Amino acid sequence: MPEILIINPATLELISTIPVPESSEIDIMISESAKAFKVWKNTPLSQRQIILIKIADSIDSKKDKLARLLTMEQGKPLHESIREIGAIASVFRLYANMPIEQETIRDDDNALITVSQEPYGVCGLILPWNYPVGLLGWKLAPCLLAGNSAIVKPSQYAPLAVMKCLEIMSQHLPGNLVQALPGGDIEGQYLVSHPGIARISFTGSQAAGKNILNNAGKNFQKITLEMGGNDPAIILPDCDIEKRFGSIFWGCFFNAGQICVAIKRIYVHEDLAPELIRRFREMAQSLKIGNGLEPGIQMGPINNERQLQKVEKLVEDARTRGATIVCGGDIISGTGYFFQPTVITDLDDSFALVKQEQFGPVIPILTYSDIDDAISRASGTGYGLGGSIWTENIEIGMKLAERLECGTAWVNSHMLVEHSAPFGGWKQSGIGRELGRAGLEEFLQSRTVYLKR
Ligand code: NAD
Repeated sequence: MPEILIINPATLELISTIPVPESSEIDIMISESAKAFKVWKNTPLSQRQIILIKIADSIDSKKDKLARLLTMEQGKPLHESIREIGAIASVFRLYANMPIEQETIRDDDNALITVSQEPYGVCGLILPWNYPVGLLGWKLAPCLLAGNSAIVKPSQYAPLAVMKCLEIMSQHLPGNLVQALPGGDIEGQYLVSHPGIARISFTGSQAAGKNILNNAGKNFQKITLEMGGNDPAIILPDCDIEKRFGSIFWGCFFNAGQICVAIKRIYVHEDLAPELIRRFREMAQSLKIGNGLEPGIQMGPINNERQLQKVEKLVEDARTRGATIVCGGDIISGTGYFFQPTVITDLDDSFALVKQEQFGPVIPILTYSDIDDAISRASGTGYGLGGSIWTENIEIGMKLAERLECGTAWVNSHMLVEHSAPFGGWKQSGIGRELGRAGLEEFLQSRTVYLKR
């Protein structure tokens, strides 16, 4: 039987091996899920809500153990893992309090017309490795509240904390309602191509998203795709760098830059560039980098070798084309997939590092002199997940934020996610929304009933 090997990216130790189901076993999982769905969809909403709360409480009570497991397989510092486990519990609580109501469109002498919201059936939930537990919550909580069943395919690089969460949840859920499908891209592809899957919710790369989009067409499956971002941060000449610097820096380097809505390009007004670059260099060089389980660690490794090589290649390309490596620029020698926090200047929008998503601890800093030019360059990559404006003039900041072509725009922050607000990408960053009411609606389809009087 094939298996996946889970490696600690900080120590390169083998943490676990997990057997991967054969396709015939996936078929059985899907048919068992369909049976569980038939019962769950008729379970009263109030009961489903109570179960979601119980799940949140159980996850909270195991927070420390789950966080350690997440850090071991993903690499992020422990305090970031604790925050992520807190996020899944809070998303389950959010959805537990969200109503699903029938609407009466017309009720008169001639007709009664009602619209109800119904679940789809068996959903395939596909997760990446960078924020696996948090994203499990974004997908699974609304999926279950809506009355669907789910098969969860965690990433082959970080499945353990997700699978542990599912095991904890199973104490509160009917058998087979939520099942874990450990495996790689092949198992993911098999799952989403299966005619028994009614709805797909995927988070990951554009390449995989495109493949899913093509496959989903064969069975007319409904899809939500949350894909990569290449978020710009535009720093206006009046920005108080001293005050804002910490937020700008961590907007780039939180989770070693492996966040879909991390700042991936900075456009700074040319007058502020020297100060900003100096501060970036000083802070990047002072970071405590290492195994996220050790106290005081501020930045962990890149999660896997494939991603480490991708980051290295983008930096190498920039170096070869004549960009200035202000600090960092190389893999850290020794054990683990560590890359130096890297700041790069003297490059333009044609560089691969600026056009593509690096998803690592590397930030290109570009300059501008005209704000209209900066806004147009910021929106010029084909991505549209997030973007931010940094200024002391709130009115101008809000106006400029509305000109960014993306699903979430921030003023004087980046990466803050409010669970009750919709989240998702414009353009090639996504299809559909997660979180908020919109995230629940992705898992519901309407049924209109006409009564002729
Ligand atoms: P990935 O696309 O390689 O893998 C993501 C998941 O999809 C994995 O579970 C993988 O096994 C599965 N998969 C791969 N190919 C598939 C296919 N053809 N059919 C079905 N499943 C398939 O992505 P990754 O490297 O794990 O994650 C990094 C990417 O995720 C980055 O681009 C990042 O920006 C993106 N991301 C986006 C968001 C968002 O909300 N927009 C959030 C986090 C991460």
